[in-house]
Amino acid sequence: MVIVKTAREITLMKDACRISANALRVAGEYVKPGVTTYEIDRRVREYIEKQGAKPSFLGYGGFPASACISVNNVVIHGIPSKKQVLKEGDIVSVDVGAFYNGYHGDNAYTYACGEVSEAARSLMDVTRISLEKGIEAALAGNRVGDIGSAVQKYVEARSYSVVRDFVGHGVGAKLHEDPSVPNFGTAGRGVRLLPGMTIAIEPMVCEGSYEVEVLDDEWTTVTMDGKLAAHYENSIAITPDGPVILTVPG
Ligand code: MG
Repeated sequence: MVIVKTAREITLMKDACRISANALRVAGEYVKPGVTTYEIDRRVREYIEKQGAKPSFLGYGGFPASACISVNNVVIHGIPSKKQVLKEGDIVSVDVGAFYNGYHGDNAYTYACGEVSEAARSLMDVTRISLEKGIEAALAGNRVGDIGSAVQKYVEARSYSVVRDFVGHGVGAKLHEDPSVPNFGTAGRGVRLLPGMTIAIEPMVCEGSYEVEVLDDEWTTVTMDGKLAAHYENSIAITPDGPVILTVPG
């Protein structure tokens, strides 16, 4: 069931989203050669808890950490580890959510660890801009397929691919609400976007094939061909005046 929120509810949700966005920035500050993904997760958790909020992902479906940290060929759901030391040239996707005042915020960003290759930079740029294209299509009266189509067209025109097995989602009192928001699809199809809907748009883009597999830990999701992937996400509200990004740091 798609939930439409009042302006007051969305205002409340902005706090959770701001904390999530700040936590994502904190993570970015620690993406440096020599830092473990465990250390980044610890800083993220500390920041969120200091705000009186809760990390949305910690314990969600049994996930053991506050942030998903996915390096290079890991697309999403990477588990932070003391054994994983970041090195120059890695691309590091961090996905983090915070729960505050009854609402979740959810966002992700792929950070460069030091200097990255031109190929990595290009993938990151295209993925980041594809998120913007998706957000621009999130107009009241449009449909979910308009978002997916905008992302997919932008990505595929640049010879990258969009993941099919994982999609964006509604976000609010629950971390994952209806509707599903795929990063692929047909314009004019799917659930209609109404003012008051809050959704997380999150393109996962691959350098090679979009096929992914989940490792034995039941979380870590990697590209089947071992090539790079990037991931950007914002929580947004559909309003009569157009899409409003909620996960803004401040
Ligand atoms: Mg999400």
